[in-house]
Amino acid sequence: MKICRNCENVFESGSLCPECGGALHDVSEKEENAYNARLKRTVSRQSSRSYGLNSTFSDSVLGSLSLFGTSLQGLRPLRAAKAQTENYVGTYAGAGIVFFLLAAINFLAPKLVRAISSIRLRLTSDEKPTPSAFWVATKNIAKYAYFAFGAMLLLLNLIEIL
Ligand SMILES: [Zn+2]
Repeated sequence: MKICRNCENVFESGSLCPECGGALHDVSEKEENAYNARLKRTVSRQSSRSYGLNSTFSDSVLGSLSLFGTSLQGLRPLRAAKAQTENYVGTYAGAGIVFFLLAAINFLAPKLVRAISSIRLRLTSDEKPTPSAFWVATKNIAKYAYFAFGAMLLLLNLIEIL
C-alpha cells in the first residue's frame, strides 16, 4: 500500500499520486492503522443515521400529528353515518386517511418502509441493499408530500359541501 503525504490518499501501487502529483511513499504500519480507522469511521457514518433510517424528533412530532389527522378525518364520516346524512360521499376523508397513514408510517417507522421496499431486491440477491442517497432523498420528500396531501384533504373534508 502506498500513501501520498500531500493529500493523504492511499493507493495500491504507483510512484506518483494521481490526485495531486505528489510522490507516493510506502505505508508504515501506523499509517495503515490510521487509514483503516478513518475508513471504518466513514463507513459507519454513512450507515444508519445519516441515511434517515432513524426517526428524528421532528419526525416523531409530524408522525404523531399524522395519526391525529387520521382520526380527525374519520370524525366527519362517522358523524355523517350516525346522522344518516344523505349525499355525503367522504372521498376526501378516505383519501386523507390514506395519505396521513402513509405519512405516519414514513415518519415513525422508516426502517419498516425500507424493509418493505427492499423485499424485492432481497429476493433476487443475497446482498443486503444499502439505501442510496437518492432513495433517502425521495423518501424524505415523499413523507412531507404525504403529510401535505393529508392536511389538504383534511381541510377539504372539513369544508366538504356534498
Ligand atoms: Zn496526493
